[in-house]
Amino acid sequence: MIYREKSQKVELIGNYVEHIQRSANISELITELSYERRYSYFYGLKDSAYPSLLQHRIKTDSIMRILGKSKSITIKDYKNYTFLDSLPAIRGLIDSCKTTTNNIIDYYTNAIFRLNTLESEIPANTFLKPIYQDLIAQRILAQMITYFGIIRTNVFNVLYTKKDMSETLYETVEVYKVYKTYEKELFQKAAPFVIHDFNVIKKASDLQIGEVYLDSLFNTPKNLSSSDANWWWKISGNSMTALRNQQLALWKSVDIRMKEIYQQEKDSKNETLVFLLIAILLVTFFVYYAVSHIHKLLSELKHAATKISKGASGLQLKKMSGDIIGDLADCIIDIDKNNLMIAQTANQIGKGNFTVKVKLRSEEDLLGISIKRMKNALQEYASQKDKIQKETEDLVYRRDEFFSIASHELKTPVTSLKAYTQLMLMDMKATEDSQQKDMLERMDTQINKLTALINNLLDTSKINNGHFVYNKELFSLKDLITETIDGMSINLSDHEIIFNSSSTAKIYADRDRIGQVIYNFLTNAMKYASEDKRIIVTLKEEKNMVVCTVKDFGKGIVVDEQKRIFERFYRISGHNLNTFPGLGLGLFICKEIIQKHHGKIGLESEKGKGSTFHFELPIEKVMN
Ligand code: ADP
Repeated sequence: MIYREKSQKVELIGNYVEHIQRSANISELITELSYERRYSYFYGLKDSAYPSLLQHRIKTDSIMRILGKSKSITIKDYKNYTFLDSLPAIRGLIDSCKTTTNNIIDYYTNAIFRLNTLESEIPANTFLKPIYQDLIAQRILAQMITYFGIIRTNVFNVLYTKKDMSETLYETVEVYKVYKTYEKELFQKAAPFVIHDFNVIKKASDLQIGEVYLDSLFNTPKNLSSSDANWWWKISGNSMTALRNQQLALWKSVDIRMKEIYQQEKDSKNETLVFLLIAILLVTFFVYYAVSHIHKLLSELKHAATKISKGASGLQLKKMSGDIIGDLADCIIDIDKNNLMIAQTANQIGKGNFTVKVKLRSEEDLLGISIKRMKNALQEYASQKDKIQKETEDLVYRRDEFFSIASHELKTPVTSLKAYTQLMLMDMKATEDSQQKDMLERMDTQINKLTALINNLLDTSKINNGHFVYNKELFSLKDLITETIDGMSINLSDHEIIFNSSSTAKIYADRDRIGQVIYNFLTNAMKYASEDKRIIVTLKEEKNMVVCTVKDFGKGIVVDEQKRIFERFYRISGHNLNTFPGLGLGLFICKEIIQKHHGKIGLESEKGKGSTFHFELPIEKVMN
């Protein structure tokens, strides 16, 4: 619709442009005809104006050719009703001097007059197109009425007064000629039905009779009578009424159609408005839909990208439309797939599967290249590690072998040494040599220490090869602790062991091994004691467990070391190995024994303030 309106506007302007051009041409033609009139008049007066006349005739002809090409209804066949169709004939008469100067002037004046009336024509525009022809026909009819009116009055005047007849009639003839050109113009320009109506009216009314009368009046002057005047007045009046009726009918039809056109345009304007509103609504809806759809897609992509940026993978991103957003989604899907692939590859490499292939996405794939390098480095490292591990395992195996064999081999001679030392000590008692006796006792103490070390080594190798056996029995833990403390009293020197027990619970366990744990706790408490030589042993029950604690006020152990002292061969660095002999096996064996009895072992300690070692074992419910 907008296009249609624009086209109409362009057509309208085009018509005005053409109209202006045509008017300019008509004006030029009028100017040239004026020159022709002047030089023809001078030529008629035998003046030597012929060359100028010919010059202007050429110009006149060229302008007429231009106008003849116009397709506009305004000047359709214009020569027929502007006297110009008889221009060649007039020129012939002028050239052969067969006409009067008056005739020359009349001819050119009439032609110029008629051309002037054409110029005032309104240009056809796109809206008026359907009624334009009738509008022009109506205007021509109006002109005919005007001129017929002049003729009617003049002729009546001449008939009635019979005065100045020749002069008045002469002027009226010219007016009549003009009137007839309008009739011709009507035949050229009006629609067939208008011409048909006009012919009917002409025949039916007195118009034809009037015209016949006028023709005879102007061609053959006769005696005029005043009865003619009355007759003329009557028939010319009827003719004018007939012409006016046709003009009014045409005018009415034009008016009705004009109103229709106006209504159509008004409706079309409203239609355009509705159409525009609908279009705006549709466009708004579409834009809203498109924007929200794009927003939704972009949100999904953002969500996916955020997840990827946080390291997630395996996103369930749907395939999107084939536009730029779809391409973006495909890229994110690709990134996700690649991430997943790289993660799986890295995972495989992490698990030691070095056969997995790292596929590079392009030459610029820095991540892929790095993972490839990492894989090679890890492969190298893993093979080195395997080698070292094998060597270490071999070493450990050989160490354990060595300790096993050494402890076995040492056990027998040390046992013999112990026996002989004991025998010698018994002999000493008899001889009462105090110096030798003291030496032998020291030897015995050292053999005891050596035995303890060998026993620890033996136990450790048994634990290693699974030969550490437990002979379980039901016994009172309190009794075992009392016995162990009593057994150690000889070697106590200035240590003081305080035992508090609130439990007489019995446990089902290997008595010797549990005794070994208590002994170890006490030995360590003594070994790592400070000036405060007190050792507080407590036995209590907690739920269905019996808990034994051995508290000393010695050096204490820092937290980091606390976790490690139960490891095999672990000894706290910085301790003077000479002052505190040992192999770092005692607590390892203790842990092993307690865990095998479904118990727990641990400690609380603070550097410089002492330690509290504890173990707990399940109480055996004795049925009485
Ligand atoms: P060791 O025979 O060397 O004493 P253990 O396994 O019995 O071996 O003890 C491991 C380490 O724990 C010791 O070397 C010692 O440093 C530390 N330790 C054990 N008991 C105590 C304690 N009561 N006070 C301070 N340190 C202790």
